[in-house]
Amino acid sequence: MLHQSGGKVYLTHDIDWLHPWHPYSFVKWALRNKRWLSMNQMLQRDIYLRQIERLIAFEKQAGVTSIFLLGSSQRSFGLHDLRYRAGSSAYRELLVLLKDHETGLHSTGSTPIEDQLRWLGQFTGKPVRFHRSHFFKFDRAALYPVLEAHGITTDFSEGEARRVNFTLRDSGEHHINVVPTVISDNAFFYHDPREVFKAFRKNLNNAASLQTDIAVLWHPENMLIEPKLLEYYHEIILICKSHNYHFIPTL
Ligand SMILES: [Zn+2]
Repeated sequence: MLHQSGGKVYLTHDIDWLHPWHPYSFVKWALRNKRWLSMNQMLQRDIYLRQIERLIAFEKQAGVTSIFLLGSSQRSFGLHDLRYRAGSSAYRELLVLLKDHETGLHSTGSTPIEDQLRWLGQFTGKPVRFHRSHFFKFDRAALYPVLEAHGITTDFSEGEARRVNFTLRDSGEHHINVVPTVISDNAFFYHDPREVFKAFRKNLNNAASLQTDIAVLWHPENMLIEPKLLEYYHEIILICKSHNYHFIPTL
């Protein structure tokens, strides 16, 4: 089968957790949630950071690199907050790990987004150009003007957490490149892997026929819960390659 030349695929990772000792981590464990860390993993204080290191090493070997989207808020207990405080010791170590990587904001709805964008720039010392809303929850009319005013060039907030999906949208009169997140690794927690790959191929073909760029989202913490997700990530990279997609960022 001849694949037409695709667009670009952005490899991205959202950082939702950094501390296995966050109180909600114990709540999740106590609820015997099957999709959570084991107690042995929970006892390893730096387990998330080490997983991010492994992910970076894996990508290096696979000949790709990625964008990490981080929070920048001090809030970590609200319903929609990320489960870490920006500026904590683990957060500072994360910034060191990511010093040569592209980074962007993973925003929450609990704090004005202008503040989160400004704080992330201060923490990383780099301009913030990429963005994704936590849980894909956002209000287009409110979000795009703020992103544009703060120099964000690319937004990945269009997508679904549990299902492979491709919906073409734009930012209207705003100068934001809206890149849909076609697949999140969470899809593998809800569907048979064969179905997920099938749906991904189909959506990738649709995106390619429209010459549209897409984003792929993998969470470091999910790979701790389900180690097969690293293999699945590799498979997704190979499928993109076979469809002549170019990877962003470039090495
Ligand atoms: Zn998130």
